[in-house]
Amino acid sequence: MNYDITIIGAGVTGSLIARELSRYNLKVCLVEKESDVAMGTSKANSAIVHAGYDAKPGSLKAKLNVRGNELMGDVTEKLHVPFKRIGSFVLAFNEEDMKQLNKLYQYGIENNVPNMKILNKQEVKEMEPNLSDEVMGALYAPTAGIVCPYELTLAAAENAVDNGVELILECEVTGVTKKDDSFVLNTSKGELVTKYIINAAGVHSDVVSAMFGDDSIEINPRKGEYLLLDKKQGDVVNTVIFQPPTKMGKGILVTPTVDGNILLGPTAEDIKDKEDIATTNTGLDKVIQGAKKSVASINTRDVITSFAGLRATSSLHDFIIEKSNKVEGLINVAGIESPGLSAAPAVSKYVLNIVKTLDIELIEKVNYIEERRPVYKIREMNEEERAKLISEKPLYGNIICRCETVTEGEIVDCIHRSAGATNLDGVKRRTRAGMGRCQGGFCAPRVVDIISRELNIPKDQVTKMGGKSNMLVGNTK
Ligand SMILES: Cc1cc2nc3c(=O)[nH]c(=O)nc-3n(C[C@H](O)[C@H](O)[C@H](O)COP(=O)(O)OP(=O)(O)OC[C@H]3O[C@@H](n4cnc5c(N)ncnc54)[C@H](O)[C@@H]3O)c2cc1C
Repeated sequence: MNYDITIIGAGVTGSLIARELSRYNLKVCLVEKESDVAMGTSKANSAIVHAGYDAKPGSLKAKLNVRGNELMGDVTEKLHVPFKRIGSFVLAFNEEDMKQLNKLYQYGIENNVPNMKILNKQEVKEMEPNLSDEVMGALYAPTAGIVCPYELTLAAAENAVDNGVELILECEVTGVTKKDDSFVLNTSKGELVTKYIINAAGVHSDVVSAMFGDDSIEINPRKGEYLLLDKKQGDVVNTVIFQPPTKMGKGILVTPTVDGNILLGPTAEDIKDKEDIATTNTGLDKVIQGAKKSVASINTRDVITSFAGLRATSSLHDFIIEKSNKVEGLINVAGIESPGLSAAPAVSKYVLNIVKTLDIELIEKVNYIEERRPVYKIREMNEEERAKLISEKPLYGNIICRCETVTEGEIVDCIHRSAGATNLDGVKRRTRAGMGRCQGGFCAPRVVDIISRELNIPKDQVTKMGGKSNMLVGNTK
């Protein structure tokens, strides 16, 4: 196993970097400690493509957010990932908040965010009638949008693999030694030799950097908890609704998701444990109180699930994307907290420019596959399209997940794609089977059957999320 470049971490950052590098005749490897891509922060966030008025003018965050927002339409189109430019509001409830909106507006102007407006109460309520009567005005940014963060990550990794990148899952980098001008990585999958390293390890990027000998980075996890509402609340708002930011983050939001649910959250709590993604009563109460301040009519009886994600907060309060000053051959892509999802397409191009300065020859591939093979989604097709598909591929006529209308054809397809699903949650993230009101109560056993059949493994070896998370322990009779 000998590579030109190894990327550590298959979140949205690492996967889009891998896709960008896969345009060239390089031997690139993407290693991920978990059983699937998008298992870190990239699977649990607000899914907003920010317009770019939050970050301090002149910061890397500001530049890459606005550029990432511009690039997102093209990237998601090529990768066939849902993205909707629905616009965002930051609400003001008093004069102090109005001052903050003006500051954000000024930041936005300096950051080159297009078409922002400060609206009065009447204008805001005309666009979003369900907002609280306490709202005094809002900053409107029409270029903000929503995207599916894990689908973007999965699609980028799939496209990278189709273009020759080697993806190694359940491969934790645990140590390193230098041999001549290469690194020898110790991983849970054995030794791996590489000339250059791109450290995109999210909340662990300080640990990874220190492992190589650069301890200049400090990343602290900041937890954000969420509640997800059933689709029947789906039209309570049409745009992303923020409250004025605090020093801990962008406050509690109420937002539609690309799949038609409503998302509430996140909280912001500094914690120590980089793996702690448990939700708490206190946190979820804060989410409910915060969300009701913006939209009083939110009905928490329609909550279908809760989750939490960890922001990779750096002590520098900006993205750290640079060649290490201490270790030759190491490129750190660290401190990628919000707006890291929005910025990711621009981050990947920024990293490519760094790679162009390395002692490595970049020759564009003639057979580069720019576009990902489209995914059939029965729930989004009309009757005629469905009938045609089912006549050609009968498995698309067999509904497995009734809540989200996911067919056997979709599940089989997602298992056999590059970087395909190998477990129940992998199928869930790729197809939405199990994401609906019943949260997999009906379809989980049928999905286990399909995974077992398609991967040719016994049912009791099918896991929920890799490792030891087996679903079944044996036969009862
Ligand atoms: C609560 C919350 C809300 C957010 N909301 C938004 C938003 O609305 N819009 C926005 O733009 N951004 C948002 N963000 C930020 C965004 O989610 C992140 O910036 C982005 O997902 C970071 O992606 P990443 O690939 O850098 O990190 P990750 O997705 O965490 O990926 C890093 C990967 O590295 C792997 N890894 C770590 N150590 C090792 C090792 N030793 N060996 C192998 N693999 C390793 C991990 O398992 C992980 O999969 C939010 C973040 C949070 C937490």
